Amino acid sequence: MKRNNGITLIALVVTIIILLILAGVSITMFSGKGIFARAQSGAEKWKQGEEIENSTIASLIDGFDSEEQKLQLVSPTITIVGESDKNQQVFANDVQVKIIGNNMPVVKSLHYLVDGAEAKSDTEIQNNQTFSLSAAGRITIKAYSVGWDNQKSAFAEREIIISKAPPEYAVIEITGDTEVQSLPTTVKAKVTHISEYNDIDISNCKYVINNSGDDVGTDKANYTNTFTSNGEEIDVTINGVGNYFLHVLSTNLAGQSTETKKTISSYANYHTHIGDATHGGACYQTPNYHQHVDACYSKTYHKHTSSCNATATCTVTYSRSSASYGPTKCASCGASGTKSGTTYYYYENHSSCGQGKVKYDTRTKWNCTNCGAKASAPAAKSGSTTHSYDTGGYKCGKTTSTVESSTIICGKDGQIESYSLSCGKDENTVDSYTISY
Ligand SMILES: [Zn+2]
Ligand SMILES: [Zn+2]
Ligand SMILES: [Zn+2]
Ligand SMILES: [Zn+2]
Ligand SMILES: [Zn+2]
Repeated sequence: MKRNNGITLIALVVTIIILLILAGVSITMFSGKGIFARAQSGAEKWKQGEEIENSTIASLIDGFDSEEQKLQLVSPTITIVGESDKNQQVFANDVQVKIIGNNMPVVKSLHYLVDGAEAKSDTEIQNNQTFSLSAAGRITIKAYSVGWDNQKSAFAEREIIISKAPPEYAVIEITGDTEVQSLPTTVKAKVTHISEYNDIDISNCKYVINNSGDDVGTDKANYTNTFTSNGEEIDVTINGVGNYFLHVLSTNLAGQSTETKKTISSYANYHTHIGDATHGGACYQTPNYHQHVDACYSKTYHKHTSSCNATATCTVTYSRSSASYGPTKCASCGASGTKSGTTYYYYENHSSCGQGKVKYDTRTKWNCTNCGAKASAPAAKSGSTTHSYDTGGYKCGKTTSTVESSTIICGKDGQIESYSLSCGKDENTVDSYTISY
């Protein structure tokens, strides 16, 4: 503050204000305090406002001198006590808000309105005075000045976000196949960070996918992946059977973080045979046809006939043997001891038929030395003959066990009796993988 020669600052201000009131403000000031009292009060307030620049005064004087008689009131400034203006976020139970009037000497009163969690109001407030906000949420504060001419300034407006808790959670919506034929597979996870009373700081929201259900915590360094937008859809790859955990760290502009986990599981569905061996179908498609057994047949066995008999040729040759006798009594002359002779025995000799040596005739030759009577015996047959005979074997090549004909009597010829597995799988075969989330 500079002091002008010969005149005190307070006197100058009083003078200025009186001039302003008399010249620029409509003449509606006949109630309440007198002009001097108001001027004095304004001066005191001005004196207290050390931050008012001399230039403000200059502009006020300019306003006074101009043809435009209405002063252009500047809106008050809304300040959050103890907080920078960096992000308009505070984390406190009780927030102090200060209203600072601009071009104060011509301001008759300052007002503020709270629009938000707290009830609307229109409250007059002293310059540089603070009031407190205790509710959480997005709160709009408006402030305006009323000049001595009852003109209202434009609203100053400021949104204050009062954070009392970290981000609530992230909503993780998984979409993708719930059953796949093979792994790996990929599902989509749409991640929406929720913070009712905060602005999400997406650049500090992160995630990591692992196989542990343990909390990763709120240390950002433990998260490997970043988001580019709230509500981003990220890929989660399921490499094999097991549990996969998507850990999401949601962070607000106040730097507070909350972890949200989502479990995605995959497990194998092993093959189970369906259908049945009796009725077939499904896994059982290979028919097993009836196999005839002995009992299925009525059989006729071979009976040998004469034509079955095997024959062979036997060669018959002839021979004879002889034995001498006498002398004995001659039957012709009756003399005794005068007849002598030889008895011959005739044989057939079979070479192979089994009859062997067969005697077939006996003849005698003799003579009598008394009467001269005599008889001669023929010579043995010469040459040979043959005859056919049964060998006792069979030329048919069959036996009585030989089946001449058989008839199926089971009635099951070509009939399917059961079905065998045809799926080519067993209980270790994985049919599919279920992805659950
Ligand atoms: Zn099967
Ligand atoms: Zn049969
Ligand atoms: Zn036979
Ligand atoms: Zn013979
Ligand atoms: Zn005789």
